[in-house]
Amino acid sequence: MAPAGLPRRIVVVGASLAGWNAVRALRAEGFDGELTLVGEEPHLPYDRPPLSKDYLAGRVDRGRLDLTAHDDVDALALDRRLGIAATGLDLGDRILRLGDGTDLSWDGLVVATGARVRRLPGTEALAGVFALRTLEDADALRADLAGGPRRVVVLGAGFIGLEVAATARLAGHDVTVVEAAPTPLVRSVGELVGRTVAELHRDHGVDVRLGVGVEGIEGEARVTAVRLADGTRLPADVVVAGIGVVPAVDWLDGSGLAVDNGVRCDGTCLAAPGVVAAGDAATFPNALFDDEVMRVEHWDHAIAMGAFAARRLLAGDGWDPAERFAPVPFFWSDQYDRKLQSVGRIGPGDEVELFDGDPAERRFVTVHVRDGRVVGAFGMNRPRHVMRLRGLIAERADLDRVRTELA
Ligand SMILES: Cc1cc2nc3c(=O)[nH]c(=O)nc-3n(C[C@H](O)[C@H](O)[C@H](O)COP(=O)(O)OP(=O)(O)OC[C@H]3O[C@@H](n4cnc5c(N)ncnc54)[C@H](O)[C@@H]3O)c2cc1C
Repeated sequence: MAPAGLPRRIVVVGASLAGWNAVRALRAEGFDGELTLVGEEPHLPYDRPPLSKDYLAGRVDRGRLDLTAHDDVDALALDRRLGIAATGLDLGDRILRLGDGTDLSWDGLVVATGARVRRLPGTEALAGVFALRTLEDADALRADLAGGPRRVVVLGAGFIGLEVAATARLAGHDVTVVEAAPTPLVRSVGELVGRTVAELHRDHGVDVRLGVGVEGIEGEARVTAVRLADGTRLPADVVVAGIGVVPAVDWLDGSGLAVDNGVRCDGTCLAAPGVVAAGDAATFPNALFDDEVMRVEHWDHAIAMGAFAARRLLAGDGWDPAERFAPVPFFWSDQYDRKLQSVGRIGPGDEVELFDGDPAERRFVTVHVRDGRVVGAFGMNRPRHVMRLRGLIAERADLDRVRTELA
């Protein structure tokens, strides 16, 4: 029996990576009270990264996406409410409102509703226009691409758009990527890396159009072309919008939780007494980066934050405030035969030092330095270096130390 004041009835909202790792951690930490998992999607939690890579390419099947494959789901004793969205929250009375008209009372709440993909406005009725976030999105795009050689136009050269471009190109489609910025990915990985990634796609025959916006999409029942702001008309059978996501937190409007580009947490994942948040839906000040408030849309982050938030929730007032959630963000992306990996916080104003390798060979490491401290690193086909750098960033290493250690 938990001490008085600690939660006995926990609801996890969002049945995906962060939510599932919170559920696992709650039970692993010994929580034996009522545990409810609410998820808008009808599925048990599944993995999203393969949706733009091996699953889209048809190299892995649905079973490989299952995030619960190694869990004894029955032993977790969950009240599962899948296919039902949370629609509102009453913080004072500790009530969660669901789309099926029912209410759930809770004394511990985990908000893990992730992010929603932005779709191209005005194209809802047009066949051949896709965005990619869910299993259904991936199935629809995969089925369409299987229909024969397509002229694919990807709008937005973010990581997911570029992964779709690579997958489609390797499958033999004619692929164009359109990006409004003069260099892709500058905000997340810097100028040199962004230029190199654009070149990687050109190496493989992708037509990469940079510094040009989209004026409109043409087509009656199905898309036929994309019109660009410079007057170009790109014939298209398939258009994939890779124009980012927004945190899925609109259901919290009026709840009293602080929401600003995600649920605002303190440095321990706490959003309000008895409420924690995790994953793509959460912002938090990261002590490792001078309390920069960040919202991180990475797989590894959703796992770590989901588990940390669960422990935080169970501890209640007994938590040591000095124990902060202060990760070195990490993500990877697979494009063609290259593994791209980034750690830390890369910013456009950082000094960039090239370590080991050569961008021209599509095999290199960059180290990103701010005020003498190494704050980030990027590697293309250099996993060992990147993982070493992750540890050094956590230790607040300066450039001299990094040079010595990587020599
Ligand atoms: C195609 C694709 C490829 C990716 N590839 C990579 C990669 O290579 N590397 C990497 O690091 N990261 C990658 N990511 C990012 C990674 O998958 C996400 O960071 C991760 O899924 C975030 O997990 P989450 O649980 O916070 O949110 P989500 O996965 O977005 O899950 C949130 C869940 O909450 C549900 N929900 C939303 N609103 C409500 C509501 N009101 N009530 C109930 N449920 C609700 C949603 O339906 C969803 O199931 C990729 C993402 C995508 C889409």
